[in-house]
Amino acid sequence: MNIHEYQAKALLRSYGAPVSDGRAVTRAEDAKNAAGELDGPLWVVKAQIHAGGRGKGKFKEADAGDKGGVRLTKSVAEAADEARRMLGRTLVTHQTGPAGKQVNRIYIEDGSGIETELYLALLVDRASSRISFVCSTEGGMDIEEVAANTPDKILSFTVDPATGYQPFHGRRIAFSLGLKGGQIKQCVNLMGLLYKAFTEKDMEMLEINPLIVTDSGDLKVLDAKVSFDSNALYRQADVAALRDETEEDAKELAASKYDLNYIALDGEIGCMVNGAGLAMATMDIIKLYGAEPANFLDVGGGATKEKVTEAFKIITSDPNVKGILVNIFGGIMRCDVIAEGVVGAVKEVGLKVPLVVRLEGTNVEEGKRIINESGLDVIAADDLRDGAEKIVKAVKG
Ligand code: GDP
Ligand code: MN
Repeated sequence: MNIHEYQAKALLRSYGAPVSDGRAVTRAEDAKNAAGELDGPLWVVKAQIHAGGRGKGKFKEADAGDKGGVRLTKSVAEAADEARRMLGRTLVTHQTGPAGKQVNRIYIEDGSGIETELYLALLVDRASSRISFVCSTEGGMDIEEVAANTPDKILSFTVDPATGYQPFHGRRIAFSLGLKGGQIKQCVNLMGLLYKAFTEKDMEMLEINPLIVTDSGDLKVLDAKVSFDSNALYRQADVAALRDETEEDAKELAASKYDLNYIALDGEIGCMVNGAGLAMATMDIIKLYGAEPANFLDVGGGATKEKVTEAFKIITSDPNVKGILVNIFGGIMRCDVIAEGVVGAVKEVGLKVPLVVRLEGTNVEEGKRIINESGLDVIAADDLRDGAEKIVKAVKG
């Protein structure tokens, strides 16, 4: 689960991180008062969307101005103007995709004088099963680009969970970032509290780009991007409360309400499968036969007819879907339940694209009977290969 920059900064501030004062607003008429509560002489007006690259982004609407989603202003009135220009408009960045994201919230922040921009991140390193620090002197840039072009400018190391964070970790980062004097102690403290926040709040990633040295020589968190482990939200009620559903994919949101494991993808073949392994294999074999999956969907073991109906509705609501492959190997999941769910969903929302169904396993005969007697225009498949071949053929001709 992702949160907004202003929420991430409030969270980090509560752990003692150096963060500028700021105010979040959702209505243009509140922007002037919000900016007036900050000291100046610089006010930074920042679009709040769950995507990075806002500074270099572009708005779709001309009246939003051509300055991107992070704007430096020199007065309260100018800050309020920029907030009004961005609110309700669509910002496109390299992380939003071409459709962009509507800006529903603006963060106005007390501006900082910048001496240097640095990069810092904490993330879960799956290879070592540890939390790792990543830092670079190349702040404010796309870290993927730095990694590709000048990998020697990135320092990365993991923390042993048995000892946890130690001051030497912080010093190692400070020296590699070229920090001096009091900044080294600030860095040791900051890295310690970031590590504490990361572990206590079950974060998956914490990226500060840029971490800056201000013109008065102090470290400050200028941008903050945090994502949390969704599987841990049950024990993080205060984090779960920060969720902004307007930022999430509507189909993924609907799926999460029904406890379906659904990920939207870019292809044209909708898949309904039981079991994550079979779902992965189904996506692979669709690709093997020359098409692309429109989604990953694991309906799980104990899915009800209602759950299957919802899953099918989510798949058909995707305008990119040109065909659907239902691939069920009934173990705990019963084929008749799947068949009833599919038939129920088609009765509700109709079927405008070819549908290939492959059923095998528990109650398979009953499942096939339900589909055959429903009068639905279904293409039956015998196995995984046959199913993939038939749906790709039906879609591509
Ligand atoms: P992003 O583009 O979505 O990553 O948004 P950031 O919060 O990282 O801001 C983009 C850039 O705007 C930063 O790299 C800075 O160069 C600049 N910026 C942001 N806040 C300030 C500020 O308070 N003062 C100054 N001088 N520049 C800022
Ligand atoms: Mn940034």
